[in-house]
Amino acid sequence: MVYVLNNDGSPLMPCTEAKARHLVEGGKAKVVRRTPFIIRLTFLVEGEVNTEAVTLGVDAGSSLIGVSVTTEGRVLLEAEVEVRNDVPQSMEERRSKRRARRNRKTRYREARLDNRKRPKGWLTPTMETKVRTHENVIDKLCSILPASRIVIESASFDIQKIRDPGIEGEEYQQGEQLGYENVKAYVKARDGFRCRSCGSRDHLEVHHIRQRKDGGSNSPDNLVTLCHECHKAWHEGKKDRGTLSEDPGFKAATEMSTMRWILLDRVRKTHPDIPVKETYGYVTNHGRKSHGLEKRHFIDARVISGNVTAMSDGVLWHVVTRRSHNRKIHKDTMLKKGVRKANQAARKVAGFGLNDKVMYAGQLCYIHGRRSSGYFDIRRLDGTRVHAGIHYRHLTLVERANTNLIYKEVMEVSPSGRA
Ligand SMILES: [Zn+2]
Ligand SMILES: [Zn+2]
Repeated sequence: MVYVLNNDGSPLMPCTEAKARHLVEGGKAKVVRRTPFIIRLTFLVEGEVNTEAVTLGVDAGSSLIGVSVTTEGRVLLEAEVEVRNDVPQSMEERRSKRRARRNRKTRYREARLDNRKRPKGWLTPTMETKVRTHENVIDKLCSILPASRIVIESASFDIQKIRDPGIEGEEYQQGEQLGYENVKAYVKARDGFRCRSCGSRDHLEVHHIRQRKDGGSNSPDNLVTLCHECHKAWHEGKKDRGTLSEDPGFKAATEMSTMRWILLDRVRKTHPDIPVKETYGYVTNHGRKSHGLEKRHFIDARVISGNVTAMSDGVLWHVVTRRSHNRKIHKDTMLKKGVRKANQAARKVAGFGLNDKVMYAGQLCYIHGRRSSGYFDIRRLDGTRVHAGIHYRHLTLVERANTNLIYKEVMEVSPSGRA
């Protein structure tokens, strides 16, 4: 699949590789990027060009994000994005450096009094990175595909429906089963994802205190989270109500994940022209299970997009995010005469920047470290070192790392999403 931009830079529907080659060879398009392959037309296509509804589904996550851009029958792009996990370490490092600096005798610094207030909507650096990675991925996808709708899973269950089961949405037609899935997701969250009998976190099931056949209802006060062992014991008559811990009751914190709500809010602000809808984890789980699909982040994203039966071309992009520059200015140890040695290399050394994709001795590598002498530390995507100090004349630039989502790699997956 090749992604196509109109002459004004707006996204059009993707085309096949053969068509793209034809366009490029005929001078009707220019190559913008190779991973993923993006071309831009040299002429302007006018009028209503994107007639098909394209939905972007986002499975938000704190370590792995699943995204799927679909039409009713086709998956246009699917990816799993690894979120940076080195932020807490970097913050710790900064903290210790600052502490050390305060204990040193340094030049007089004017007291800082007016800059300690956190602005509204402030997030911890770790959380901020996570939310921004989601935003970046969404922005990137919206820039290469004509998304007409964005769907984000904002919570695992819909508290509104539990509080007031009378309101019946469009999903109601999918039957009572779906409503029960919602209640089950709620009950697990209410019980803190622990067995109410023994406190275990493994193999959790939801049990009816008063059984269905005895007239017990599906309402949360008749349901309790138990681990598989305790559940079995209960049905064998070895456990009863008396062994349960107290009902923790509903807490606002269990209602939603802050990160997802902030994300939803920000995406709505940055894409005012695209409707941003929310969905719930129980709907996703139900959709995935009823179609017999694998439990993977990109498949959840496909279900979230609403086009469960869309077929992919078997390509899954694996995206890794890395920081784009080293912010540490000086080396830790001082040189003689008290000179602090610079730690940062120039952004570009001999034309190569951090994370640029290069070819060395027939293999694809990425610039990991650069030295002003013109020697580079090059590594593979997984971090294994290829060469600790290779001169630039042995490297050929394949692609510059000019996006926030730096590395991309294709994997083969089952087009239908079934195992
Ligand atoms: Zn248990
Ligand atoms: Zn049971």
